[in-house]
Amino acid sequence: MPTPILIIEDEPAIADTLLYALNAEGFAPAWRANGADGLASLRETPPALVVLDVGLPDINGFELCKQIRAESSVPVLFLTARNSEIDRVVGLEIGGDDYLTKPFSPRELTARVKAILRRGPALPPPPATPSQSNHNGYFGPTAGGASSTAREPVANVDDLRCRISWRGQPLDLTATEFRLLKTLLEQPGRVFTREQLLASAWTEPEASLDRTVDAHIKTLRAKIRAVSPSDDPIQTHRGLGYSLKDC
Ligand code: CA
Repeated sequence: MPTPILIIEDEPAIADTLLYALNAEGFAPAWRANGADGLASLRETPPALVVLDVGLPDINGFELCKQIRAESSVPVLFLTARNSEIDRVVGLEIGGDDYLTKPFSPRELTARVKAILRRGPALPPPPATPSQSNHNGYFGPTAGGASSTAREPVANVDDLRCRISWRGQPLDLTATEFRLLKTLLEQPGRVFTREQLLASAWTEPEASLDRTVDAHIKTLRAKIRAVSPSDDPIQTHRGLGYSLKDC
């Protein structure tokens, strides 16, 4: 089976060159012209390698690489128009695997791609610490029958930027809502009392009331529904508290 390569590059002429060169070498390249489409494609069809332009119309390629690194250790080969040492250092520090400066020859590109792929699975692990990895992907309740989405996590936690995405869409959360949902995501199925949620999600729990938890849970449910109307993952346990539906 041909090796899938994802090209995220906004200049059609360069993308054409890349597609042609990679096809000629027996790879199966796919092209996306902006960061959002690139990330969606990466989630839908995980490639063996990403060729990532630094200057994209909707997001800086380095920023996009950070997002990719939050959920995948796929090798990333940066393309940039600038040949500065700083770019190179930044690119490699945030998890890029190699770096190619425009203009480059197709042969140069395919040689780099092959070299990276030859390194095989000896890739650096994603930056998430082991204690975080268990809640980076919440797969949702299996009883829901949504087996087609089994490989895709329902929720992803980006600890670095304090963001949570739900079915690929970022939730617009306050800091408290982020900590609250993160707490629930860390242990699906566990029933948390309001006191426990206050203690873990509020910076000053003694200053808050139990119904503050209820109010935030209500907002969280609405925000999740806003991006995915069929999802209602937070369960109320009368007299006890809340839990996230178990996987
Ligand atoms: Ca560009």
